[in-house]
Amino acid sequence: SEEPVDPADELKFLCLGGGNEVGRSCHIIQYKGKTVMLDAGQHPAYDGLSALPFFDIFDLSTVDVLLISHFHVDHAASLPYVLAKTNFKGRVFMTHPTKAIYRWLIQDSVRVGNASSNESSQPVYTEQDHANTFPMIEAIDYYTTHTISSIRITPYPAGHVLGAAMFLIEIAGLNIFFTGDYSREHDRHLVSAEVPRGIKIDVLITESTYGVASHVPRLEREQALMKSITGILNRGGRALLPVFALGRAQELLLILDEYWAKHPEFQKVPIYYASNLARKCMVVYQTYIGAMNDNIKRLFRERMAEAEVTGDGAGKGGPWDFKFIRSLKSLDRFEDVGSCVMLASPGMLQSGVSRELLERWAPSDKNGVIITGYSVEGTMARQIMQEPEQIQAVVTRNAAAARRAPGGDAEKVMIPRRCSVQEYSFAAHVDGNENREFIEEVGAPVVILVHGEQHNMMRLKSKLLSLNTNKTVKIKVYSPKNIEELRIPFKQDKIA
Ligand SMILES: [Zn+2]
Ligand SMILES: [Zn+2]
Repeated sequence: SEEPVDPADELKFLCLGGGNEVGRSCHIIQYKGKTVMLDAGQHPAYDGLSALPFFDIFDLSTVDVLLISHFHVDHAASLPYVLAKTNFKGRVFMTHPTKAIYRWLIQDSVRVGNASSNESSQPVYTEQDHANTFPMIEAIDYYTTHTISSIRITPYPAGHVLGAAMFLIEIAGLNIFFTGDYSREHDRHLVSAEVPRGIKIDVLITESTYGVASHVPRLEREQALMKSITGILNRGGRALLPVFALGRAQELLLILDEYWAKHPEFQKVPIYYASNLARKCMVVYQTYIGAMNDNIKRLFRERMAEAEVTGDGAGKGGPWDFKFIRSLKSLDRFEDVGSCVMLASPGMLQSGVSRELLERWAPSDKNGVIITGYSVEGTMARQIMQEPEQIQAVVTRNAAAARRAPGGDAEKVMIPRRCSVQEYSFAAHVDGNENREFIEEVGAPVVILVHGEQHNMMRLKSKLLSLNTNKTVKIKVYSPKNIEELRIPFKQDKIA
């Protein structure tokens, strides 16, 4: 019964990545001759070119504006490739803290990537590519509107991690709102996401990471996490918390430092944070206290006052000057004796320090692994949650073994897994209820789901459609797969 629509009134939407999956987020919006690209991530479960979004199926030279929601690998790590290796010639925007962290994060990932002896996967860009393209990025502030070739963009706080933004995009009177990854619960350092006031949103593009699943309340989750950690320590074990180097790790450090301060009986047990990158980025966290919530601002004032009293400069880092956490430059400097709590990256145990410690500690049933982030399909973090009898060692750690078995499969080294494995999500994504409430509050007639595995996305879609029964104006819900173009009609009277 719908009238034929003039193609000029259609909004086109295309996922180059992040469609029915978590990873390599990259979405294209086209309307009235304007093109906006949202995010440019990599897929954490793949290597080399296959970790990139499907850039080859779209002419990137047509993109007017590229918006990066936050610094996580799955949203930002393809950007140097886009800027250095493709015909992209648009403008790129991200918030100031995102840009500050992105700089170190990409540099670090390129260096780590090059150090790997996996010769089959060539890096898709170099450190030089990153250095050359970094100045092209324009940094912007929350709540500030910028107009670029008559596209209006405004970032809003998204919670999730420092600097994370949701973007309001206005093209020819059509308001599109992109959540990126977002959270609404109150944590120790971030301002949580809010619905933009007084703006009629026509299209909402939202993450669907947790589908309809609901999180255990924050306080209970924190208590369960601490019970689990102290349980491992009390049996004389080592607690390994694989974390992404930056972002949620800072929240976990605040929780741990606070708990240790209140529990002298654990103060003899060291908490380590093994991340060089984090040390570099602490300056960013200190600089952007103003972009965080009231809790962190209060902590900052307290620490500065303490520093003034003692006069020794202690507490200069404010809330990030932890009392009970030691930063660890490398495993060479780590004396592995007795119980400890270890936060190490990468968060999905693909390689690096966290993987090395996993392989070292997995055989003992005293030890425990605690997963606190979202684990992408195909990664070791996802695998280990199934509590397998054994896990595969990263063969590349031994170059000689790698040469003997170039394909990898011929001489798999297996390690028994007897350590405990538990999961408490501190990933800072909305759960099913929070997402549904937010979607209802935004009230857009068109909702496009991205950033979720198919089964989670489908459950959320059904839930949202079931809410249509008591509505006069039914909402449309889309869940496009990668490279599957959506065409959504909008009436001509939208023109401003
Ligand atoms: Zn994220
Ligand atoms: Zn993400």
